[in-house]
Formats: sequence, C-alpha cells, structure tokens
Amino acid sequence: IDFGYKQVPKQEKVKRVAEVFHSVADKYDVMNDLMSFGIHRIWKKITIEYSSVRKGQKVLDLAGGTGDLTAKFSQLVGDDGLVVLADINESMLKVGRDKLRDKGLIKNIEYVQANAEELPFADNYFDCITISFGLRNVTDKEKALRSMWRVLKPGGRLLILEFSKPQYQILNKAYDLYSFTMLPLMGKIVANDSESYRYLAESIRMHPDQNTLKKMMEDAGFVDVKYHNMTGGIVALHTGFKF
Ligand code: SAM
Repeated sequence: IDFGYKQVPKQEKVKRVAEVFHSVADKYDVMNDLMSFGIHRIWKKITIEYSSVRKGQKVLDLAGGTGDLTAKFSQLVGDDGLVVLADINESMLKVGRDKLRDKGLIKNIEYVQANAEELPFADNYFDCITISFGLRNVTDKEKALRSMWRVLKPGGRLLILEFSKPQYQILNKAYDLYSFTMLPLMGKIVANDSESYRYLAESIRMHPDQNTLKKMMEDAGFVDVKYHNMTGGIVALHTGFKF
C-alpha cells in the first residue's frame, strides 16, 4: 500500500489522513515518545524558543493535535493572551483538550476544528503561528501557507516544525530503514495499527526538503525565511515573517 501524497487523489488523501488520526489519537503521545526516543520534546522546546512569544500575545497552534506546544504557549502568553489550538481532526482535538484540562490549563486556550487550507479567522489576527508535524498531512500546502499568511499580523512569525531531508547519506539510509521497518512494527505492537504508521513513514519521505519548503513559504508571501536543521536534518524548523 502506498498512500504518500502524490499517489492518491485529493479526496482520498483527506479521507486517509482523517482515518489515520482518528485511529492513533488515543495512543498518539506514547507513540511520539517511543518513535522519537523522546527527542520530539527537544525539537518542540527549540521551536518555543525561536517563537519569542510574549505575554499578552495571540498564538495559533495549527494542526495542534494533542497540544504539546499549546500547553507551553498557554504559560508564555499569560492570562491576557490567547492560544488557539486548531486541528481538522475531532479525535485529536478531544484528546488534546482532555489532556490540557487535566493539567489545569483552561483560561487562555480555545479549541477550533479547522482545515489549515481555509482558516476561519480574521485577517492579521495572530502574533505567531506554529504548525508542528502537521504540514506534511495537509493536501494543498500552498493554499494552507497562504491561509496562514492571511491570518498572521504584519510583523508576525510563522514556525514550521517538520520532518525534512537528513543531511548525511548514511543517516538517510539508516533513517529510511528505521521508518519503514520499525515504525509499522511499533505501530502494530503498541497501537495495533501498522498501516497508519506506514502512512507516517511514507508521508515523511514525500514531504518537501528544506529548500523546497523555504521557497514555498517565500512564494506564499513570507519574508526573511530561514531554516534550522535538527538531528542532522531529520527535522527542520522553518521560520518566516509577514512584512
Ligand atoms: N502538532 C502536534 C504535535 O506536534 O505533536 C500534532 C501533530 S500530528 C502528527 C498531525 C496533526 O495534523 C493531526 O492532529 C491531524 O489531525 C492534523 N491535520 C492533518 N491535516 C490537517 C489540516 N488540513 N488542517 C488542520 N490539521 C490537520
């Protein structure tokens, strides 16, 4: 089975992404820790540092899923700020909302079911937008980037944390092997769902590399676009501004 983003028609991809995240929602956090050996926490911590979010600001955690970034932003923006956790998938949103409420984070967070391609927010609204491990699941990435640009305030910052292209051939090979054998196996053992994790491996391989994504952000209108490789380029953090 191969349902990377080029092989299937648009509606088919939308349906499969929905099925994958409905299926993995309950086990998402534990699988994240297992699959990345906990390193995703460091990637997210670095993303928070690059965001420069301050008290009183409005932040959109897009494709926010189970809300790891939202939790951190909620503390940073304080009672006068706002964090919107937006995700297309109601199962992921529900797991995220329950988790954040259990942590006592309620005051400054809103939950919105939304498609990144058509964000239901006013123009120039957010000081900062993050999309962490979400963009590769979006069908029309160009449209989503334009939508993010629209709702960002002038001077606002977009941060895209996503799998990217490993910078060393040996790392690339090892990583390919790991993702196409270990990920589905772990998915099978922990979540009884190897297909969803095979999708994950395929979507990672299909995702645009560092320079392609940089160019896509520039085409959508972002300026001063830069990327920072992490863990040898397995993951990259792209940052850009709305002028
Ligand atoms: N941001 C979280 C994190 O870093 O742990 C969750 C990432 S999870 C791998 C990807 C999320 O993207 C899922 O919750 C999925 O529902 C969401 N997603 C996929 N397509 C989307 C779209 N078109 N618009 C908004 N969210 C989407």
